[in-house]
Amino acid sequence: MKTKKSKSAIIRIVIQIFFFLLVFMVSISKWLAEKGIKLPFLPEVSLHAICPFGGIETLYGFAATGSFIQKIHNSSFILMIIGILVALLFGAIFCGYICPFGTFQEWIGKLGKKLLGKRYNSLIPKKLDSILRYLRYVVLALVVYQTAITSKLLFQNMDPYYALFNFFTNEVALSAYIVLGVIAVLSLFIERPWCKYFCPYGAFLGLFNLFRVFKIRRNKNTCISCGKCDRVCPMNIEVSKKEAVRSHQCISCHKCTSEVSCPIKDTVVISTNKLSEEKEGVKVEA
Ligand code: SF4
Ligand code: SF4
Repeated sequence: MKTKKSKSAIIRIVIQIFFFLLVFMVSISKWLAEKGIKLPFLPEVSLHAICPFGGIETLYGFAATGSFIQKIHNSSFILMIIGILVALLFGAIFCGYICPFGTFQEWIGKLGKKLLGKRYNSLIPKKLDSILRYLRYVVLALVVYQTAITSKLLFQNMDPYYALFNFFTNEVALSAYIVLGVIAVLSLFIERPWCKYFCPYGAFLGLFNLFRVFKIRRNKNTCISCGKCDRVCPMNIEVSKKEAVRSHQCISCHKCTSEVSCPIKDTVVISTNKLSEEKEGVKVEA
């Protein structure tokens, strides 16, 4: 069994910390700039300018009028396009590696795992959970529709990500603080509850898992059915029952892979091709 963190797992943690700090510093820089204090090396841009979901929100307005809605910048649109291209290749990897709100939930989840042990992330009955997983598409449809008819970013008033990185300003609506508090508490019991049930951008990116180029694939010939890949998956995907993960819920965190958790070399991999049926020399890593 692997005990030490793999190189891939460490790289992911470093990337997550980097983007968490970057977003936090950008937000502070903007807040200080409004008070006349300029921080070196940091842009004075709002969080909306570095959020790819802003591009999705303004898509209808842009198609209809050729202009962006209030508070949305060119950069959001460019980030949206980059996000789509990356998702076409790797699925919702933004959620697993970059999104600082996903990272925030994951960090709280570490405490939840310590408190609840094996019961963590398995408290919601499977049937209810599988229905709730589609709730985020309802949120996505509502956000896009509301933004289209009002040309305003009303979602900001419910957005826990915006509340988390702007908690020190007076721009956050009480409702957003409440959503943030609820998600923080839920994260003690459920891994990434916002990502699973509510996040509209995760819902959008998750669609690309159906036809992404580089898929998470399991070699059924070398798999020993130990179930470790299932246990480590934050999104409760049963990797051990699939040959390719196509779930809209996969966040491409790569925790299930042989590089990180699966004890059999080259059994869960990121690949464009179907895995060979005749692999030999199975090696269990220490
Ligand atoms: S962790 Fe690897 S060996 Fe174990 S069930 Fe998953 S794919 Fe099979
Ligand atoms: S299937 Fe693998 S890559 Fe996808 S969310 Fe689960 S652990 Fe992460």
